[in-house]
Amino acid sequence: MPHPLDSDFVRDQLVARTVDLNGKAYRPEGEYVLYWMQSTHRLDENWAFRAAVRTANRLQRPLVVHQGLDPTYPHASDRHHDFILQGARETAQRAETLGVHYQFVLRPGRDDDRRVVDRLAARAYVVLTDLFPTAGVRERTARFAERAGCRVLAIDSSCSVPSGSFRTAEYAARTIRPKLAALLDHAIEPVTDEVPRVAVTEALRQSLRATIAEGGGLAPLPIATMTTADIRAAIAGCAIDHTVPPVSQPSGRAAALAHCARFITQGLHRYAADRAEASAPDGTSHLSPYLHYGMIAGAEVVRAARAAGAPADDEYAFVQQVTTWRELSFNWCVRTPAFDQLASLPAWLQATMRDHAQDTRPVLYDLATLEAAETHDALWNAAQRELVTTGVIHNYPRMLWGKTLLLWTESYEQARAWMFHLNDKYATDGRDPNSVGGIMWCLGLWDRPWGNKPVWGGIRPMVTARARLKFDVAAYCRRFGG
Ligand SMILES: Cc1cc2nc3c(=O)[nH]c(=O)nc-3n(C[C@H](O)[C@H](O)[C@H](O)COP(=O)(O)OP(=O)(O)OC[C@H]3O[C@@H](n4cnc5c(N)ncnc54)[C@H](O)[C@@H]3O)c2cc1C
Repeated sequence: MPHPLDSDFVRDQLVARTVDLNGKAYRPEGEYVLYWMQSTHRLDENWAFRAAVRTANRLQRPLVVHQGLDPTYPHASDRHHDFILQGARETAQRAETLGVHYQFVLRPGRDDDRRVVDRLAARAYVVLTDLFPTAGVRERTARFAERAGCRVLAIDSSCSVPSGSFRTAEYAARTIRPKLAALLDHAIEPVTDEVPRVAVTEALRQSLRATIAEGGGLAPLPIATMTTADIRAAIAGCAIDHTVPPVSQPSGRAAALAHCARFITQGLHRYAADRAEASAPDGTSHLSPYLHYGMIAGAEVVRAARAAGAPADDEYAFVQQVTTWRELSFNWCVRTPAFDQLASLPAWLQATMRDHAQDTRPVLYDLATLEAAETHDALWNAAQRELVTTGVIHNYPRMLWGKTLLLWTESYEQARAWMFHLNDKYATDGRDPNSVGGIMWCLGLWDRPWGNKPVWGGIRPMVTARARLKFDVAAYCRRFGG
């Protein structure tokens, strides 16, 4: 039986998922509860939205759901803007169905008014937002919480098991795995969602428009009714990188659910065997862009996998990726202040990098050559082309792609910086805690020492020359050949 929204289960989950960002008082005269949607782009199975509905209904005040898109986020491009806006259209349509007030404000220019959410917050009883450590969300939210005149709460809807269950950075997959396993079944129990009971009146709607317009004339986009051509025209007017085009993978919650359902029925039963086969188009789920933008919940994916009746090995292998590896990455980013810096790596890695800093690298490439996939290595080039053209790299070549940069750059720091640059510039699933987890893993995080080789030191080596033992390299290179 699903838990009701006012149940102890929901209250306990929210306690473990919520971080009070500023300890400020609630604003008693606040006209509404404000949910500032940042990284969880859905209204279903969204813990921040649930908390906002609970609060609004308890107070008998309306709920305002606000999403904004600025040109200033890291690696802002047509690719990300398009994925976000196409998804927002569906969120707006879902909001209309549910009778929820949802507004989407696009800030085209860098110099345009950037304080819309501040002005909305100035009229709110409390602001609830998404807890997300990467993509600039953490920094933006912390600055906002300092400025805001009321309490700001950040709520984790990304993890299946509340990230607040683990107070310190976990040491490795093997340490978080049993803890997650003990909590997972209970944490993913379904909840019967509710909608706000007090409607946003036409008068409030108009005054919200006035508040949005105050600082320079911005207005909510009529996103629910915009065509793809309208969305592309709006994006063309934004001060972002127009050289990284949208991907063909469809965006939005319906596409996320359809991808998940298709994978569960067609791919899950051979996941353990096929997940390393990078030449197979459907060996893995392709869910990472949807999970990154919160268009589907990890818990929904786990529940669907559990219900599929797939062989135990396949179900286990897949659920491990969606929970252990994904939530280990989230845990690392939430609990480690400089999560993307070499200085955060364990002492043995610092020592090995010091010892091998002067080792001669077999070949050095500049960033432009790497970005253009013009190295001597056909497999690496194919992985880079997969990234640039599709917005993701299959996990196995992605590890090789990352590790190889240790051999081709002047320093570990340059390898780190260029991995982040290339990944986050082109990946639709980029700027995610998983981006950090994957890249830092290439540099040795969560691993043990692996001997002592030139350049690698104790870092686990992986070279493209041995990849043909794992998957059909020739077929992969044909798929993403130049
Ligand atoms: C250098 C490098 C960079 C990476 N950058 C990203 C990134 O920007 N965004 C991203 O989401 N993942 C990243 N990963 C992790 C992994 O490659 C992708 O999550 C996975 O390939 C996505 O494909 P899928 O959805 O088909 O995965 P599936 O195999 O179908 O797995 C389902 C889900 O489990 C999670 N998952 C799978 N593998 C991993 C993993 N190794 N670590 C953490 N979670 C995992 C993802 O959420 C994924 O969508 C990176 C890995 C490396 C080595």
